[in-house]
Amino acid sequence: MNGLYIHIPFCVSKCFYCNFVSFKTSLSFQKKYIKELCTEIKNKRNLIKPKTLYIGGGTPSFLSPQLLTELFKTIEKNFGPIKNFKESTIEANVESLTPAKIKLFKKYGFTRLSLGLQSPDNKYLKIIGRAHTLEHFLKVYTLAKKYFDNINIDLIANLPNQTLAEFSAGVKKVISLKPKHISLYALEIEEGCVLYQKGFTTDDDLCLKMLKKAAALLENAGYTQYEISNFAQKGAESLHNKNYWQSGSYLGLGVAASSYLKGVRSTNTSDLKKYLTQKNKTAFSEKLTGKAKEGERIILALRMLDGFKPTKKMLQLFKKDFDSLKKEKLIFSKQGKLALTEQGKYLANQVFRHFVEPF
Ligand code: SF4
Repeated sequence: MNGLYIHIPFCVSKCFYCNFVSFKTSLSFQKKYIKELCTEIKNKRNLIKPKTLYIGGGTPSFLSPQLLTELFKTIEKNFGPIKNFKESTIEANVESLTPAKIKLFKKYGFTRLSLGLQSPDNKYLKIIGRAHTLEHFLKVYTLAKKYFDNINIDLIANLPNQTLAEFSAGVKKVISLKPKHISLYALEIEEGCVLYQKGFTTDDDLCLKMLKKAAALLENAGYTQYEISNFAQKGAESLHNKNYWQSGSYLGLGVAASSYLKGVRSTNTSDLKKYLTQKNKTAFSEKLTGKAKEGERIILALRMLDGFKPTKKMLQLFKKDFDSLKKEKLIFSKQGKLALTEQGKYLANQVFRHFVEPF
């Protein structure tokens, strides 16, 4: 199933852990960006016939209603009505998600709203530099629920100095909000972000306990962990993201957006100025072949906890790896499929290392 991804790289401020391509900019700069993005949409319209749409960021809801409308109209002119996509998601953060914007998303037929909460605890929201409070989130979420049945909430585990009890209470709080989908990531403190500069480090053992606890709480509340970091109620799995893990084709538009088309993966420049001025926006492009291609397909497919049916080629190329991972009880076979074991789920990076170069 082909997907279309559009990147909006603006945010109200920079969170202290953020390593995404996101900037705080003026309205005139945003106007220039949307103009250039619309040109890119027009120029690349024939590269794919997408079934799913995902507008991510950054914070797409940070754009003004006028700029959002300009973007939606351009998408519709080039790819057809948004309501005709099989799934259409837009990411939002509550500090910029006004009632008018919620109604605008609904009017254009978006089927899914993805909200960044990260923690339902004001103490930790402050520590990680989020621009909202829990109270503000709840107010906007309550309104959004009236318009959207399918809402995702993003959560982060292992925040600086967070205890297991505090984290578990947070997961329970989010469950009580009954979103259809929850994405849960472990905090990563990469060089350059504010938390790194402040000297914070992460505790891997505690993180593992948190992820295990969250999985148990969520499964118990009726959510299925269908991917390493994603939990959904029945029928609410993200089709757009599943396409990535199934190595489907996708076109990414906007600064730093990635594409995978006809076996070629490419990424647009992450330099905003270059994005605005250069006709050729591609910063990196590579055609994967042979073992590297099959290895990447395996890594993506293994992220889905239901597993995947390996092709003959995969079995030939990686027989030794599959055998040793089975021996270590990190993957297992079920009905012709290969999947991560419970232990493998938490040691996924160790599993994935088998399928990346050097082999
Ligand atoms: S909202 Fe997301 S993209 Fe924006 S600064 Fe925070 S973490 Fe980064």
